[in-house]
Amino acid sequence: MAYVNSNEFAANTFDAIVIGSGISGGWAAKELCGKGLKTLVLERGKDVVHLKDYPTATKNPWDFPHRGQMPLVVQQENPIVERCYAFGEASEHFFVKDKEHPYVQDKPFDWIRGYQVGGKSLLWARQTQRWSKFDFEGPARDGFAVDWPIRYDDLAPWYTYVEQFAGISGNHDGLETLPDGDFLPPWEMNVVEKEIRKRIMAHYKDRDVVIGRCAHLTKPKEIHLQQGRGQCQARSLCERGCPFGGYFSSNSSTLPWAAKTGKLTLRPDSVVHSIIYDEKKQKAVGVRVIDAHTNKAIEYFARIIFVNAAALNSNLILLNSTSNRFPNGLGNDNGLLGKYVAFHNYRGSMSASFEGPMDSYYYGRRPTAVMMPNFRNVYKQETDFLRGYMTFYTATRPRWRHTADGQQIGAEYKDAIAEPGSWNIYMMMQGETIPKESNFVQLSKDAKDKWGIPQLRISVDYDDNDEKLLKDFLVQGTEMLDKAGCKNIVTRDSKQAPGLDIHEVGGIRMGHDPKTSLLNKWNQLHNCPNVFVTDGACMTSTSTQNPSLTFMALTARAANYAADALKKGEV
Ligand SMILES: Cc1cc2nc3c(=O)[nH]c(=O)nc-3n(C[C@H](O)[C@H](O)[C@H](O)COP(=O)(O)OP(=O)(O)OC[C@H]3O[C@@H](n4cnc5c(N)ncnc54)[C@H](O)[C@@H]3O)c2cc1C
Repeated sequence: MAYVNSNEFAANTFDAIVIGSGISGGWAAKELCGKGLKTLVLERGKDVVHLKDYPTATKNPWDFPHRGQMPLVVQQENPIVERCYAFGEASEHFFVKDKEHPYVQDKPFDWIRGYQVGGKSLLWARQTQRWSKFDFEGPARDGFAVDWPIRYDDLAPWYTYVEQFAGISGNHDGLETLPDGDFLPPWEMNVVEKEIRKRIMAHYKDRDVVIGRCAHLTKPKEIHLQQGRGQCQARSLCERGCPFGGYFSSNSSTLPWAAKTGKLTLRPDSVVHSIIYDEKKQKAVGVRVIDAHTNKAIEYFARIIFVNAAALNSNLILLNSTSNRFPNGLGNDNGLLGKYVAFHNYRGSMSASFEGPMDSYYYGRRPTAVMMPNFRNVYKQETDFLRGYMTFYTATRPRWRHTADGQQIGAEYKDAIAEPGSWNIYMMMQGETIPKESNFVQLSKDAKDKWGIPQLRISVDYDDNDEKLLKDFLVQGTEMLDKAGCKNIVTRDSKQAPGLDIHEVGGIRMGHDPKTSLLNKWNQLHNCPNVFVTDGACMTSTSTQNPSLTFMALTARAANYAADALKKGEV
């Protein structure tokens, strides 16, 4: 390289570079280091060291100046992130504030981000379901997007692999629509949830109800103890960072494991600008970084590069990686980079009451809900919309938090918190959206961030299919709660913008054919095979399951492939 002296070049050269240290980047780092590769993880945000950097983890409600609520002025300054349910006084330091990292909304899109070591793994709700064979077969069967280049059986061993290490609790339910995993003991449904389950399943032969599967250590195994993690205490204070390591995060699990190998270099405060493509070698050779504090540009070099900046930021990095060979972004010969973005439709929900056993209660704060895997269009197309939705519900007795009219002070409040109150039911949807060319991201031509990098322009919206699917959920949900004996059913369309689901995927999709996709079945760019994209950007479709377990499995699979291919000189 002409632009660095040889000492600098040697010091800045690694076997592998991973961009981003969140859920997928942490897995890439763990696998690549585990394979003996000298690995540099570049993270744009600040360092967050497990235990040390969880400032609110053990605080009581009364230790917070506003008892956990965000002051009005902060809410007004942050209309986007403020809409995220997990944003509060105890967790705000792990969220990106609106003004700090602006982007252009061609259409309303609530882009929720966590820029720090660990990324959104510190903030996520930890719901982790495997995809089923129906999900991978969906696009080919129903004729949307492109065919996935892999099937469930390709990923199944990698699901097992990541489940064993991360620690996933769940019940073995034996369902085709929601394959079982290698589970730790499940959480338990309460008495009313069980009763509703019984009544729904008695009435509908096509619907199954199971306890949620989630990345919490209900009963840690040796591998989890070796990570220094302990049993989940059901505190439900997870967004603060867990001092027990009771749930899976990069900070508590994959990153320290990678560090133990001695192969990991983690560089926080390193904003990746673009990937360097060498025209002569016809491969990527490194990454351009801007130091977040000094604004100094630095280059790092490696033989393979993993892009794990989270779906939309990975699109941004590739779009910004231009060269003579790739004037429209790295690997983007077909012009599809940034297109076919998908997300989850969370608009529908409903509440109800249940005249249930007033002498029954439940203890602890369970970190998961009750789930019903998708039952729509599973075996064949049977509605006037494509695909379907997963349904979640909970039954709670919430009155102990406040009086009937919401007061949290005074004698009436003290009396109220001694009584658990009547049973409330909450049900919500997680609908599949269809990836479309018209749902895309691109670079702004004029707006830049404070490091001179073009801002992302997001143009993503619902369509008629989403409206029909939402309507169906509201009708079916109401009917199911009614059949289960619930009363006072109130439905709601939040009309929330895409993005608030925080499950955005696509833009750098996998596929068989370089003409219609960006990545092959090993997550390599068809046109630049030493670059791997294994976060949500790679997803060809989105299914109805929470996405992160699939990102982990895809990443572990691709990283092992990449390390082996590197050793054989194939990349
Ligand atoms: C409140 C909440 C609840 C959620 N609940 C669930 C759930 O229950 N189940 C589920 O499956 N998913 C859930 N998610 C989504 C889940 O967090 C994401 O799917 C997951 O974190 C994605 O992993 P990732 O590695 O792609 O991205 P992230 O975890 O976001 O990590 C990306 C990292 O890349 C860094 N980065 C970005 N750009 C650059 C750059 N230019 N240079 C260097 N570094 C960069 C970021 O700072 C970040 O650290 C939830 C998210 C939130 C916020």
